[in-house]
Amino acid sequence: MQKTVTVVGAGIVGVCCALHLQREGFKVRLIDKGEPGMKASFGNSGSFGTASCVPFAMPGVLKKVPKMLFDSESPLKLRWSHVPRALPWFLRFIAAARPSRVEEIAAARNSLLVHTHAGYAPLIEGADASKWVDNNGLMMVFENEATFEGAAYALDLRRRNGVHMDILDGNEARQMEPALSKKVVKAVSLPDVSRTIDPFRLTESLAKDFVRRGGEIVNTEVRGFEIGADGPTRIITDRGPLEIEQVVIAAGVWSRPLAKQLGTSVPLEAERGYHVMFANQDFALKRALVSADRNVSLAHMHEGIRATGVAEFAAPDAPPDMRNAEMVKRQAMALVPGLKGEPASQWMGPRPSHPDSKPVIGRSPRHKNVLFAFGHDHLGLTMAGITGKLVAELATGKPTTVDLAPFRPDRF
Ligand SMILES: Cc1cc2nc3c(=O)[nH]c(=O)nc-3n(C[C@H](O)[C@H](O)[C@H](O)COP(=O)(O)OP(=O)(O)OC[C@H]3O[C@@H](n4cnc5c(N)ncnc54)[C@H](O)[C@@H]3O)c2cc1C
Repeated sequence: MQKTVTVVGAGIVGVCCALHLQREGFKVRLIDKGEPGMKASFGNSGSFGTASCVPFAMPGVLKKVPKMLFDSESPLKLRWSHVPRALPWFLRFIAAARPSRVEEIAAARNSLLVHTHAGYAPLIEGADASKWVDNNGLMMVFENEATFEGAAYALDLRRRNGVHMDILDGNEARQMEPALSKKVVKAVSLPDVSRTIDPFRLTESLAKDFVRRGGEIVNTEVRGFEIGADGPTRIITDRGPLEIEQVVIAAGVWSRPLAKQLGTSVPLEAERGYHVMFANQDFALKRALVSADRNVSLAHMHEGIRATGVAEFAAPDAPPDMRNAEMVKRQAMALVPGLKGEPASQWMGPRPSHPDSKPVIGRSPRHKNVLFAFGHDHLGLTMAGITGKLVAELATGKPTTVDLAPFRPDRF
């Protein structure tokens, strides 16, 4: 009899898990309370951030965070009502900024990033989805020499993790991206970074391919589990119970309460990001742009130029605060002065973030038939392919392509 796996969550991570499991011969059921790819995976910046081994907690963060919280133009936002819940997360975040931990976390992130292409290639090819992928690279830009000097350690960390970079002055940067502000004085070109021109459509194409290959998508909310002597036997949904053999929890930031019901506590918080879409512009951006001074990213998407930014700590389902999107818009227009008109749309999505900038990928310490795949923070799009491959390897009992010790669910 064909073995079955149920994947909870049809964001980019769950969809990639489902496709890789299918390729290993499992009969796969993918459950989502909404449509596939409509939450965090809908509106991200689209970069396959293979150069992003640098964690978010870096040496010196303890000095910076309090100042950032009181600066209205800072990308870091914390809703005061959320402070009691977020405090333990921030304490762990600060602990993760010790130099030795930063080196170890960067190496762990990189151990996944080097497999980005291998994790995705068969899925993108199989779904005929390469039209959603572009290989023009990414450029980090700096408007102050001091910001560039402040980035020296992060650049060195990238270099030591094998990332290819070219350092440019402002004029060289504008030759490559003429739309950039004259204030840009330094840039780092990362030619090997690729991206999708529409993260939602990429996820949707992969989900359709999953169905075409015999997969089942069930539209229902998972509320809990019936747990027997050998682990969960049924999922409780708003449409009644479903029998399960193996289950993968890949529900983005909503994985925390599900993991808790399965006996594993994780410090997973919603780090909510915002985007604005500028439609009908009379110029193009060739590559993704990331501003170190303004903390915004810009990329030319299928339907216009998308600017993204902000890390707002709040409950995942709390209403968005579109003043944050306004700030992203202002900063984007200062970096690329040719941007015109009011944004065609604004959006908020919750990055699922752990304080040590690493996802959880592994078997539940409590139940042999439960696998976890969540908490990919700013890199969920990038890491989804390899995460899916690793989950499929775990489900079959094969040795895993990457050492999963740094991503253990019980490491906190
Ligand atoms: C502004 C912004 C920019 C970003 N830029 C990048 C980038 O350039 N590169 C990159 O790699 N990453 C980027 N990210 C991060 C990336 O978008 C996320 O890490 C990724 O989308 C997370 O995917 P996921 O599948 O884990 O979660 P999600 O996409 O949130 O999917 C989780 C799914 O689980 C479902 N679900 C939840 N609970 C239940 C339940 N109880 N029952 C049934 N279904 C449930 C939800 O409906 C949802 O569809 C960015 C994020 C933001 C916000």
